[in-house]
Amino acid sequence: MHETVDVVVIGGGQAGLAAGYHLRRAGLDFIILDGQDSPGGAWQHTWDSLHLFSPAAYSSLPGRLMPPQPGETYPDAAHVVSYLTEYEQRYELPVVRPVRVEAVHRDGEFLHVEADTATWRARTVVSATGTWWRPFIPAIPGRAEFRGAQLHTVEYRRPADFAGQRVVVVGGGNSGAQIAADLAYDAELTWVTLREPRYLADDIDGRALFDHATARRRALDDGRTDTGGVASLGDIVAVPPVREARDAGRLKAQPMFARLTATGVEWADGNRADADAIIWCTGFRPALSHLAPLGLRGPRGHIPTAGTQALGEPRLHLLGYGDWTGPASATLIGVGRPARDAAREISELLGA
Ligand SMILES: Cc1cc2nc3c(=O)[nH]c(=O)nc-3n(C[C@H](O)[C@H](O)[C@H](O)COP(=O)(O)OP(=O)(O)OC[C@H]3O[C@@H](n4cnc5c(N)ncnc54)[C@H](O)[C@@H]3O)c2cc1C
Repeated sequence: MHETVDVVVIGGGQAGLAAGYHLRRAGLDFIILDGQDSPGGAWQHTWDSLHLFSPAAYSSLPGRLMPPQPGETYPDAAHVVSYLTEYEQRYELPVVRPVRVEAVHRDGEFLHVEADTATWRARTVVSATGTWWRPFIPAIPGRAEFRGAQLHTVEYRRPADFAGQRVVVVGGGNSGAQIAADLAYDAELTWVTLREPRYLADDIDGRALFDHATARRRALDDGRTDTGGVASLGDIVAVPPVREARDAGRLKAQPMFARLTATGVEWADGNRADADAIIWCTGFRPALSHLAPLGLRGPRGHIPTAGTQALGEPRLHLLGYGDWTGPASATLIGVGRPARDAAREISELLGA
């Protein structure tokens, strides 16, 4: 006999916990299934020097401010893991781990959530599995020929691993800029970006991104003209290590190369650079393979939604994957509001 619950939340990172907070307040019966051995979601796996791009108070989930990290304006990833660990204990969120959900199927009035350990019968499902688990690397000619190391952001840890090596970092977003800055002093760095790096002004940080997303949401709510996504502000938050390396002249970006060779990279004009390693900071895709049996995929691998609710399956909500599941929903401070809206809509659907 399968356990029956009002809501199964898949994923126990920040998005799953924010959902849990609001589901509890709504008085619903729910469970959170998380694939990790311990709390903290993707924050447990980032590179050593990663710091948030906003101060602690601007990186908080609903109900509880993130405490400041002594001596740091921008907390590090370990601080986020401690905060998430305390958060789930404080609100006694029913997280079960490690449980890996493999598939969600329709079964009459229920959704069957099949995991490696058990199956649950859910009246509704919130998918909050993040993107870290589906690194994206573009199809570049010659990728299989290159004889050096190739890593994605998710595998990079520290500059000491590349001391004295010729490293090509690919990507002009925050991960690319931060990893390039991390390597700028220890490795022989080539930083490659699709277009000229676009830094946000030095005196603004993630707070400005959130304020911008809030203004956009208000405009959309009020039926005013869309003010545009945060991309209009720039791609790179000039966090202190990035600013330092840039101002020291160590972050000079080159245009994207055309192909990989056995020994490095080659640009369209025939110029070449030899490399021991290539680090692909080329982004992520939403981790949605467990939802494949529902047949909901739209263009670009996204599932079409209204807010967080899947258009093709009203019993399913998607939380925290990016602006398409709510402005700034893929940030600590931004996920609270779509989580609240999802819990309210689930409550209404269940007549709770
Ligand atoms: C390099 C980097 C820097 C960032 N910096 C910031 C920042 O400074 N400030 C900010 O607010 N945001 C930042 N973000 C964005 C965002 O806050 C993080 O990506 C965050 O980890 C997203 O949380 P999440 O809960 O959506 O996903 P995750 O943290 O990935 O959590 C998802 C959880 O679901 C689990 N899971 C996945 N699939 C399954 C499955 N099939 N079954 C069961 N469990 C599953 C995973 O194991 C994981 O525990 C950053 C992102 C990156 C990549």
